[in-house]
Amino acid sequence: MNPRYDVCIIGGGAAGLACAASIDRGIRSCILEKNEILGRKILATGGGRCNLTNAGCPGAPATLDFFALRGLETYRDPEGRYYPYSQCAADVVRILADSIDKTYCDIMTSAEVSKLSRGKEGFLVEFGRAKGRGTREANTILADAVVIASGGKAGPQFGTTGDGYRLAKGLGHQVSRLYPILTGIECGDFSDLKGIRALGRVSLYRDGVKIGEEEGQIQFTADGISGICVFNLTPLIRAEDGERPADAMKRYQLSLDLAPDFTEDQVRSRRSAFGIVTGPLADRLDPERIKDWRLPVLGIKGWKEAQCTGGGVILDEIDPGTQESLLVPGLYLAGEILDAQGPCGGYNLQNAWETGIRAARAINERAINERAKNF
Ligand SMILES: Cc1cc2nc3c(=O)[nH]c(=O)nc-3n(C[C@H](O)[C@H](O)[C@H](O)COP(=O)(O)OP(=O)(O)OC[C@H]3O[C@@H](n4cnc5c(N)ncnc54)[C@H](O)[C@@H]3O)c2cc1C
Repeated sequence: MNPRYDVCIIGGGAAGLACAASIDRGIRSCILEKNEILGRKILATGGGRCNLTNAGCPGAPATLDFFALRGLETYRDPEGRYYPYSQCAADVVRILADSIDKTYCDIMTSAEVSKLSRGKEGFLVEFGRAKGRGTREANTILADAVVIASGGKAGPQFGTTGDGYRLAKGLGHQVSRLYPILTGIECGDFSDLKGIRALGRVSLYRDGVKIGEEEGQIQFTADGISGICVFNLTPLIRAEDGERPADAMKRYQLSLDLAPDFTEDQVRSRRSAFGIVTGPLADRLDPERIKDWRLPVLGIKGWKEAQCTGGGVILDEIDPGTQESLLVPGLYLAGEILDAQGPCGGYNLQNAWETGIRAARAINERAINERAKNF
């Protein structure tokens, strides 16, 4: 006989762990996680420090309370980004894992969910060989409710290869076009500039019209530019339906201002850009171009280097108050799988915590109502 759970959480990442940690005692749950460990991507966030939310997120106070209640102190940097006080992403994973009530929750790692269907008996979840307690022999479980928290397609090396989109589609959900975002932009051969950094302003043009502008540290790579200010422009670069990516890129252009604190006149009167920008950059740029260095957009870096997924399960089919599917009762979706992305700075983890916790609250409520019915 297949083991039965009140709720099965697919994915032990940010949304899945926040969800599991918020499920009430007495509700039988399980987490099925494809990797050998929980929260593998969380460990890589914020350069290993985990930028867990941002003062600009309306839900930040609730997230900070959630973590403080579980013993994690945080600090805010001058840009409003919050990190664990210990500066260690592993502590965030540990706090979450420690908050899960193991009496009622079976955690199964190396458990890759391959199939999800809904029948008369509830949801049938099929997965590959699992380690850990619960279902050593069986690779199918039954559940009254399922939370798909399997992330997006960005950073496949962390286990997120887009499986959740297939599972959600199989139950009738629509997925909008997926594209890598929060990643570097390719704009030419910069091998002589690789590793160089400059403070500046990056403007993005589409068909000659400025569509975005960001300021910050620009990092030069062998074939383009990188850094948070560059990442934040990438959601604006995309191909239209049916358009070839290579053709789409031709419509975009960048302009770098590498002397944003200087006027045109001030830079023009200089003999060299050196002194404002470092040597190799100054060798390539005459003072005339330092405030408007035009570069083509040749492409953006792929899934492996992207920090987030553009597109996802469309939000019109999800109840925003509970994260429950409007098509399949008992199915909840949380985290990056949804078509809801934010810029760098803690916004995407905030989305994962918030939607995972919201799904858990709805599941808790549902359990209370069930018990009242059977009383
Ligand atoms: C390098 C990097 C740095 C980042 N830094 C930040 C940052 O500092 N701040 C910020 O806000 N955002 C950051 N992000 C983005 C952020 O990490 C994600 O948006 C967030 O983790 C999404 O949470 P999630 O729970 O939806 O997915 P994830 O945290 O990716 O978790 C999904 C989990 O589901 C598992 N899974 C997938 N398929 C299956 C399956 N078939 N069966 C079972 N399990 C499955 C995966 O192995 C994974 O553990 C960063 C991303 C990357 C790649």
